[in-house]
Amino acid sequence: MNTVSVRTLARIAIAAGAALIAAAGPAPAQSDVNVYTYRESKLIQPLFDAFTKDTGIRVNVISASSGLEQRIKTEGANSPADVLLTVDIGRLEDAVQAGITQPIKSELLDKAVPAQYRDPEGHWYGLSMRARVAYASKERVKQAALTYEEFADPKWKGKICIRSGQHIYNNALIAAFIAHHGAAKAEQWLRGLKANLAQKPSGGDRETARDVAAGKCDLGIGNTYYWALMNDKEADKKPWADATRVILPTFQGGGTHVNLSGVVLAKHAPNKANALKLIEWLAGDKAQHLYADLNYEYPVRTGIAVNPTIAAYGPLTPDPMPISKIAEYKKAAANLVDKVGFDN
Ligand code: FE
Repeated sequence: MNTVSVRTLARIAIAAGAALIAAAGPAPAQSDVNVYTYRESKLIQPLFDAFTKDTGIRVNVISASSGLEQRIKTEGANSPADVLLTVDIGRLEDAVQAGITQPIKSELLDKAVPAQYRDPEGHWYGLSMRARVAYASKERVKQAALTYEEFADPKWKGKICIRSGQHIYNNALIAAFIAHHGAAKAEQWLRGLKANLAQKPSGGDRETARDVAAGKCDLGIGNTYYWALMNDKEADKKPWADATRVILPTFQGGGTHVNLSGVVLAKHAPNKANALKLIEWLAGDKAQHLYADLNYEYPVRTGIAVNPTIAAYGPLTPDPMPISKIAEYKKAAANLVDKVGFDN
């Protein structure tokens, strides 16, 4: 054996050794994805577990109830955030306004998520939907259908309960009203609704059902999934569901107001390819079934069955008003709530 071939062999051996070290060493960065989320971890963790099982990509989760956009902004180019998962169009838009997003380009996603549930420029995609509906007293409300406009009808005087007008869920509903009818009519409507309140806006959507059950009001306004959770999963609150029935109101000439939970891709995502994989996976069949069954949300992807408890509300006709259009009136809606003293 001459010296050249010994050297060659040595090189091969070194290369092989390096490959072995790489294979046995700590998992390389490309097997991770970092998720910042506002969603309750018990609702979202089963989705991440299933994703990891399918792809081998590990999901590192940072959850908080506020301030994640600011945190990503402060972290700047060094932010470990790949994606931000959040609820409500208001928060999705906040993330875009904060400049922490980048457009997502995916034909697969554009096929899976209908156009009205994603940002025209790709900065956010909806993954699941919830509707803002009425929890009506079984005993005292006889009508089977409702319009949102009707909430201001004096026939409901002293009979409606609702949480703060500044809560993001109501902000979006009021913004949708403005998008449909303009600011002047919306003001008239909100004054009418305020005049119909049984009490000062308070609590959350579950407490609204509680107050209807207790006879303080006949009609509560809440999200679709809370009623289902109380009915199916929260034995102590089951009586509140038992006393009420869900009516899916519609806008005159429109549909039922829905809001989104969705996702943005962080501007400086260090694991961008994995982030895209996760986002596409979340819009896929398996994840969409999980959203329907664990979270009691409406899948954003067409053709996925909704949970039977949700289905029992009756068929949902989502308002065709694009969610991005509703987001444009967020600020106006917040101002209107102050102007009419809705929460006072
Ligand atoms: Fe909620």
